[in-house]
Amino acid sequence: MKFELDAVYVEAATRTGALARRVIAALPPGVPVHEVADGRAAARALPGVADSFAAGKRRMVIMRRRARFLMGCPAAANEFACCGYLVMELASNCPMDCGYCFLQEFVADNPGFQVYANYPDAFAELDRIRASAERPIRIGTGELADSLACDSLTGISRDLIDYFARRDDLTLEFKTKTDEIENLLAIDPRGRTLVSWTLSPDRVYRSSELGTAAPAARIAAARRVLAAGYRVGFHLDPIIAYEGAAGDYAALLDELFASVPAARIDFFSLGGLRMTPGLRAAARRRFPRDPLLVGEEVLAPDGRYRAFAPLRMRLYAALNERIARERSATKVYLCMEGAGMYRRVLGEAAPTPAALGARLARGS
Ligand code: SF4
Repeated sequence: MKFELDAVYVEAATRTGALARRVIAALPPGVPVHEVADGRAAARALPGVADSFAAGKRRMVIMRRRARFLMGCPAAANEFACCGYLVMELASNCPMDCGYCFLQEFVADNPGFQVYANYPDAFAELDRIRASAERPIRIGTGELADSLACDSLTGISRDLIDYFARRDDLTLEFKTKTDEIENLLAIDPRGRTLVSWTLSPDRVYRSSELGTAAPAARIAAARRVLAAGYRVGFHLDPIIAYEGAAGDYAALLDELFASVPAARIDFFSLGGLRMTPGLRAAARRRFPRDPLLVGEEVLAPDGRYRAFAPLRMRLYAALNERIARERSATKVYLCMEGAGMYRRVLGEAAPTPAALGARLARGS
């Protein structure tokens, strides 16, 4: 376990469950475990703490999830091209701390690092969705948390991989900035689990991705899971438009392709830095010395601050061209961009969410 915890809070009703027992058994010595009646109270922001969001990251709360586990991707909206992704919320918040992370705004009131002990209930929801689905579905666990950050404690990945390995119409996506892959290497995913890494140049990693694995370590981990039978994909997102960015992102792709052949990569998603006014204020307050968070941006029609559209387009196009030079069938798509940008960068109309979702689930 690479991340330090101040304490673990366990909701009484989950105390004898498999997840709580695994976590407590694997905790490093000295981490106190407290039993609480209702995990929601333990997850709330602590009054009087200067950075309660950061404090929440160090406070794991094992509790029942009261809401559904499966939902449409929170990034989906009518104005954007969309990849038809379903998200499965098995945890909330993350022990790493990226300066641009939307969780700074999204879970500001409930920053405790929640892990849901009743996660096996998600399998019944998946079975119901499968029964009515007309296409293969890709489901990810990395929206409100990093998929693998605490997997050495929770071991949840093993149950997920096992469930998906027996269902040919579903693809599981773990999305991570870690190299926490040991549990994965011990299981045959039967081609049904994909691991995707968010990749950034060293400059972004050093400036804005506190606690994450270095980009070279992420690439090395991708190579290892590929050899173990997993599919892999990469998110270049958020692409930050600083001076010299084009060269840095191109060098990052050179480094990636030297280690992982493009022909073995399922997809790249590209997305520019985007911040609501609330997120931008939180990020600048928490990371006042990060030069990458104070670039020139404009308030876009979707209410988020973004780099100028022509600048974003140039960066996307340069990266797409670099990927195309590998002459592989790797799918490239844009995340949270409109149909016009999609067509200008990729030279094709944005596919429907159903079509792109099915293609990404199939991997071909
Ligand atoms: S790794 Fe992902 S979830 Fe964790 S802080 Fe960074 S952006 Fe947020």
